[in-house]
Amino acid sequence: MIRLDCSAGKTGPTLTVDAARLRAIAVARPVAGEQRLALDDAVGRVLSRAVFAATDLPPFDNSAMDGYALRRDDLAGAGPWTLAPAGRIAAGDGRAAALGHGEVARIFTGAPIPAGADAVVMQEDALRAGGRITVSHRPAPGQNIRRRGEDIAAGAQALAAGLALTPQRLALLAGCGLSAVLVRRRVRVAILSTGNELTEPGRPLAPGHIYNSNRVLLRSTLARLPWVELTDLGIVPDDRAIIRATIRHAAGAQDVVISSGGVSAGEEDHILDALRREAAELDVLKVAIRPGKPLTVGRLGQALYFGLPGNPYAAAITFAQIAQPALRRVAGLTEEPDTWLPGVAGFTYLRKTGRHEYLPVRWDGRDAMGRPVLERLGQGASASLSPLALAMGIAVIPPELSQVLPGVPLQVTCLAE
Ligand code: AMP
Ligand code: MG
Repeated sequence: MIRLDCSAGKTGPTLTVDAARLRAIAVARPVAGEQRLALDDAVGRVLSRAVFAATDLPPFDNSAMDGYALRRDDLAGAGPWTLAPAGRIAAGDGRAAALGHGEVARIFTGAPIPAGADAVVMQEDALRAGGRITVSHRPAPGQNIRRRGEDIAAGAQALAAGLALTPQRLALLAGCGLSAVLVRRRVRVAILSTGNELTEPGRPLAPGHIYNSNRVLLRSTLARLPWVELTDLGIVPDDRAIIRATIRHAAGAQDVVISSGGVSAGEEDHILDALRREAAELDVLKVAIRPGKPLTVGRLGQALYFGLPGNPYAAAITFAQIAQPALRRVAGLTEEPDTWLPGVAGFTYLRKTGRHEYLPVRWDGRDAMGRPVLERLGQGASASLSPLALAMGIAVIPPELSQVLPGVPLQVTCLAE
């Protein structure tokens, strides 16, 4: 990557949000270490290798229904057919006795299919009278039988490397007989908030100070990522030497360092200068995004560095749109979830074109096509916290759209509770 100076954010080409995201992902390198975890401890973690099934799933042919197992070749000519009950097989029973000609076995869901049987008739389709079982419809071959290995065969790949272990995927691994799994080690992430004006909530507010919103915003956002190991470096004053020492120290111990504030080209914005003096490989991204100021992405030694804007709304949006996808790459994830849903504007907004714009929205109704009708919250000021706090989701306005009118389709992403 080219080394850029402080002015790069002002003079470089403007990138679309997608291009900036790709740039950030390109700088990210997956962490190398791995660890073995019990399935119970592995939710949300990232598979470091593909996993192969240790056994067939299901491990034996079994019934999908409560009913009667029979031999189809006993159903000659036109029905109904009357057969002799022979045996009772419940879930958990070991190998059942083979089924003779002219016989049916009472069978329950999950019970092993007796040798010789090739279909199960559900109990609602069979008549039990006078010690005999009458069936009037011929079942298809294999009907209501779950075949050994039909879900996944022993030795086949169950999950690819780079997938997050969702509850559903853990269930598959358990079904295949695995009790533990190899995952990537956690990504070490440090966060810091820059600004002489910042005070932690709970302390008295001096004149000219504001409470630090970004620390808890980033901290709690990252706390939801099970593959992150967080270090909180708190507030760092706008002092060149202190910032420099802090980021140097952080970069030596962390995979990712995320700061907020101080990335503009103002005299009190020391992050870029400190990074430059620490010989970071920097990309100051001028992104066509609103809210959002120049965003810094780069490498500082072995660490990936993100300098987010100071305004909380801008920090939240740039983190979600650009930093988090790159962080997922560091975690070793290979899938990027598509969280966008179709919505429709319920408001009017005339705007300057050229940037992707992210608006906090809520909705309480849907249009005739079932899409949420979006109500805009706030006026888009990047320092405003209440619209974001009340929002159910974030709608995105494409760069070329100058008039958002009621009925205009917009993509929206839900904010998690
Ligand atoms: P900066 O990017 O440092 O120029 O900050 C831009 C604006 O965001 C200023 O009004 C700062 O006071 C505000 N700001 C910076 N950091 C934070 C923070 N951690 N919490 C709340 N506001 C902040
Ligand atoms: Mg500042």
